[in-house]
Amino acid sequence: MKKIAVLTSGGDAPGMNVAIRAIVRSAIHYGMEAYGVQDGFKGLSENDIFPLTRKHVTRIINRGGTILGSARYPEFKEEKTQLIAVENLKKRDIEGLIVIGGDGSFRGAQALSKLGIRTIGLPATIDNDIASTDYSIGFFTALDTAVESIDKLRDTSFSHQRCSVVEVMGRHCGDLGLYAGIAVGSEFIVTPETGFDKSKTIAEVKKSFDRNKRHAIVVVTENMTDVHQLAKDIEKATTHETRATVLGHVQRGGTPQAFDRVLATEMAERAVYLLSKSLGDKVIGLNRKDLEEFSFEEALSMKRETPSKRYGLVGQLKN
Ligand code: ADP
Repeated sequence: MKKIAVLTSGGDAPGMNVAIRAIVRSAIHYGMEAYGVQDGFKGLSENDIFPLTRKHVTRIINRGGTILGSARYPEFKEEKTQLIAVENLKKRDIEGLIVIGGDGSFRGAQALSKLGIRTIGLPATIDNDIASTDYSIGFFTALDTAVESIDKLRDTSFSHQRCSVVEVMGRHCGDLGLYAGIAVGSEFIVTPETGFDKSKTIAEVKKSFDRNKRHAIVVVTENMTDVHQLAKDIEKATTHETRATVLGHVQRGGTPQAFDRVLATEMAERAVYLLSKSLGDKVIGLNRKDLEEFSFEEALSMKRETPSKRYGLVGQLKN
């Protein structure tokens, strides 16, 4: 294989640039030319494809976001759009493609794989909701951002004997909420895995204040409940001032932290290596310490395991 392309797709995640950099450098190492695709599957269908050189990827190892841009592009579910994308690659003699993104992006990648393009998926999402890898690129950076923000809220909550209700991202996955909850020592967490029980949440906060704690932190995954209403309900029931904070998109940005950089670099190198051997239809995952590969079919049909011991920790340590 002489020419490969890379695109970033779906929600962006810190570390995508690290992966792009490692792909370009590894392509040079394995004697291949790298191409970049602007704005994910949209650029692939609209022929927005250009050579990516060493120069494009200098000084991006510490930059958040993605230099290639990302887009949600539902049109890519249609086969006629996918066929145009395949044509755009073929007319440049590009035989291999690396798709950096989440589950949705892997479905697009799988479609291209079935149409004969050797395609590799790299898991990158702050939600950590991809079953075929222990951790996805971007998760730990987003977690650090959430923890740093909640630590700051804790300072002021302590001073004013307040309760802080904090909404973190995660879509349908509670990992950000769970790990942040453990890392900040929160009173209670509400995630898709725990479900939401208003009276239980209020009771836990009340118990905390009854034990003479000066502050309380409740971490809630997005879409679980209206955190502003929950704050009002907690305040009413406990008589402690309660504020809700939605962390929002700050969790998507920022300099990728060290583990995300190492993970992105290793996964990217593996992807290029596989393409250099003319292998496609693979999703790279981290299993404990080692990288492993699955077909798109296997990866997309896997079920995520809920880290139940970690969920136990939150309840156990608040006494
Ligand atoms: P993520 O990759 O972060 O899960 P999305 O679910 O939004 O994000 O998917 C990103 C993009 O992947 C979509 O905008 C679309 O272009 C493409 N995609 C998603 N699902 C499919 C599918 N079933 N077939 C083809 N392309 C898809």
